[in-house]
Amino acid sequence: MPDRTYLAWPFFEARHRALAEEIERWAGDALGDLDHNTTDVDASCRRLVARLAEAHLLRHVVPAAYGGRHEHLDVRSLCLARETLARFASLADFAFAMQGLGSGAISLFGTEEQRRAYLPAVAEGHRVAAFALSELGAGSDVAAIATSAEPDGAGFVLNGAKSWISNGGIADFYVVFARTGEAPGTKGLSAFIVDAQTRGLEIAERIELIAPHPLATLRFENCRVPRAQLLGEPGQGFRIAMATLDLFRPTVGAAALGFARRALEEALARATSRQLFGGPLAELQMVQAKLAEMALAIDAAALLVYRAAWAKDAGAARITREAAMAKLYATEAAQRVIDDALQIHGALGVVAGHPVERLYREVRALRIYEGASEVQQVVIARQTLAAHANERAQAPNGEAAGRAT
Ligand SMILES: Cc1cc2nc3c(=O)[nH]c(=O)nc-3n(C[C@H](O)[C@H](O)[C@H](O)COP(=O)(O)OP(=O)(O)OC[C@H]3O[C@@H](n4cnc5c(N)ncnc54)[C@H](O)[C@@H]3O)c2cc1C
Repeated sequence: MPDRTYLAWPFFEARHRALAEEIERWAGDALGDLDHNTTDVDASCRRLVARLAEAHLLRHVVPAAYGGRHEHLDVRSLCLARETLARFASLADFAFAMQGLGSGAISLFGTEEQRRAYLPAVAEGHRVAAFALSELGAGSDVAAIATSAEPDGAGFVLNGAKSWISNGGIADFYVVFARTGEAPGTKGLSAFIVDAQTRGLEIAERIELIAPHPLATLRFENCRVPRAQLLGEPGQGFRIAMATLDLFRPTVGAAALGFARRALEEALARATSRQLFGGPLAELQMVQAKLAEMALAIDAAALLVYRAAWAKDAGAARITREAAMAKLYATEAAQRVIDDALQIHGALGVVAGHPVERLYREVRALRIYEGASEVQQVVIARQTLAAHANERAQAPNGEAAGRAT
């Protein structure tokens, strides 16, 4: 059992502590027997979505009016769920997270009809969701999106391709961002809900990953989408994408935190049981230094993740800076923690299928998707510089000049 003292932090309410216990118990029972070496990730993901729905855990990914547990999405609950699921089985975390990310834009910006049509089915596990923003030429650089959506009669016609789309191939619907051209760059994008069966949408390619989950390239060829499937207003696509990512970025940090906690658990078990040089590995001071750094990184990551989640739940309109800090720090720290855990295991750590070997592969993509670490650094720097400029602009002249010297 990993450290649970963080649940006493003031970020949480009694319902969060109860939820953490509930998911811990459920994951121990339901995921203990999961086959991590599965070759059929599609079937595994569908099964996991069904199990998460049966356990009512997917109720955390949609608002209460549409079958959810909380009036608005509760980011602390999402983070606690992801952290715990990731500690047990990364694919379970993936299945949970994608139901949230894939439907998040509908929860935040959908019309009443759109919400009613999709969100209850997401919470019940009847519809699998996906979020299709990236393209081969537009990953970090969202302004370069080339997939087009031309107005045509009662709707839009989509042409282009989306790359690296999680749940691609098993999703029942995709939230797709395409260029409608109201203005250049990010101001000319719109968001659409596209059902997987829509004519003109096809899975062009399935992609295998170092830590498997369903991933595909989508191709749109004269794909007609009715206007009722437009999310928000034309030209709002970038804002919709960023607001959705803001909300889910701390949860990526939470998943990394879950991986890191599992790595520390594995490292502690090994370091206290492995005998060498006449005693347990844990008595060697350089191993202790590693364990200390791991424990420290985990607490620091948890503080940033739950600070960001709490800020959103407490009513912040946007948590751009907090979310970027949480994602950047927690994912980078988890990579280091897992590497140290693997090192403590020696040769055993690189045996295929060993938990630390699995974690080593599973954590890597988190530093890339939903904004690579460097993109998070850019976001934090911009926010910090803007706050500084704002402070200087508001300060009386003398004070601003004084500070500058
Ligand atoms: C496992 C996985 C799942 C994914 N799932 C989805 C999904 O469901 N939906 C979706 O839309 N996309 C998804 N993606 C795509 C992901 O969001 C992109 O891979 C990511 O945004 C980076 O884009 P890119 O791969 O094109 O890298 P590029 O944009 O080419 O960037 C390459 C590298 O350049 C560096 N870099 C980028 N910007 C800067 C900068 N400003 N300053 C300095 N360095 C920089 C970073 O190190 C970055 O890793 C997924 C990716 C992976 C790996």
